[in-house]
Amino acid sequence: MAKVVCVLYDDPVDGYPTSYARDDLPTVKDYPDGQTLPSPKAIDFKPGTLLGSVSGELGLRKYLESLGHELIVTSSKDGPDSELEKHLHDAEVIISQPFWPAYLTADRIARAPKLKLALTAGIGSDHVDLQAAIEHNVTVAEVTYSNSHSVAEHVVMMILALVRNYIPAYKWVIKGGWNIADCVERSYDLEGMHVGTVAAGRIGLRVMRMLKPFDVHLHYTDRQRLPLSVEEELNLTWHPTREELYSACDVITLNCPLHPETEHMINDKTLKLFKRGAYLINTARGKLCDRDAIVRALESGQLAGYAGDVWFPQPAPQDHPWRTMPYHGMTPHMSGTSLSAQARYAAGTREILECYFEGRPIRDEYLIVKGGALAGTGARSYSKGNATGGSEEAAKFKKIK
Ligand code: NDP
Repeated sequence: MAKVVCVLYDDPVDGYPTSYARDDLPTVKDYPDGQTLPSPKAIDFKPGTLLGSVSGELGLRKYLESLGHELIVTSSKDGPDSELEKHLHDAEVIISQPFWPAYLTADRIARAPKLKLALTAGIGSDHVDLQAAIEHNVTVAEVTYSNSHSVAEHVVMMILALVRNYIPAYKWVIKGGWNIADCVERSYDLEGMHVGTVAAGRIGLRVMRMLKPFDVHLHYTDRQRLPLSVEEELNLTWHPTREELYSACDVITLNCPLHPETEHMINDKTLKLFKRGAYLINTARGKLCDRDAIVRALESGQLAGYAGDVWFPQPAPQDHPWRTMPYHGMTPHMSGTSLSAQARYAAGTREILECYFEGRPIRDEYLIVKGGALAGTGARSYSKGNATGGSEEAAKFKKIK
């Protein structure tokens, strides 16, 4: 029987919810490209409940224990004394969410001789050293598409929040003020601006589609060009390089995975190519950007705003400069873990586990690494190598109540 270790974020500080703001979730039938939603044989949770925190257990306990497997659920993931470390030696499956990533470094993978499956409940498996997974024949899978639309909605929200100066204006209300001039001295309309995405995959393309009615000029760059019909439908300007896109846009949103090719692609040098006063939105991965270069660009005015929900490491230490830099709209990593998204990726996690334990193939679109090579979505969207370096720093985080 297998040991399954599931690393999830902590329950709310006031305890696991006993009631919710809404009674149900809207029905989503399929994804736009025809991919079907997760289809496990059964689920043991109520969609719309909190599944991503420790007590939610991704709704997996009944299923796994009914098969005789052992399920360990913990939020303790960083540092040598963490719960995760204690179970590495005999874990066969490690499940983790990108919001609270169990960093599976080469060292940890080497100390997990029984590990067969690293399962990302969500999208983005950069917290696993993919090169080490390739070398140790560990399968890496994620629930492709499960939260892409959730993130795209967050991106649109953040673009509007920055351009319209929403967060400082909201703060004036809380402070008891009516300071219109203070609210609007950095407030603009999005209409007419040039908005570009680095990567037009599931999230990037969705963002472009949602922004079209704002009468903006849409730009993109990607490793592969979109079909001409899509370019024409959205009136997209294609840029063969990221650098060309940077200089053409007022608003730039990053929507590519983190892998050796994209790590620190936004740095002092590339920020110089941006228009002065550009806005940068990054809900993809913190390490796409050089942390201190972002702070410098905001302080100098080269960037007018930066927003996103992804940091490095996660959780971000209390003294992470993105918490206090000017003109930011950061949140903790939450865009892909709305209650709506959780229902989809918990079902996808169950589907992948059912396939694994029944010896059935995992859907190709869920695969990142298999059989000692990048596979499926991984072969298309990632590059070989390791982008998890430096994750030991996550142990510095101290929880606040
Ligand atoms: P997709 O796989 O649909 O899209 C990724 C796109 O990135 C693909 O079109 C891929 O190109 C492109 N790409 C890869 N490398 C490069 C590169 N070097 N330059 C330009 N484009 C590149 O994934 P999603 O859109 O669903 O998700 C994208 C990323 O967003 C995830 O990898 C994850 O890091 C992040 N994410 C964040 C979440 C959050 O909660 N904040 C939740 C979900 C995802 P091609 O395939 O053509 O090679």
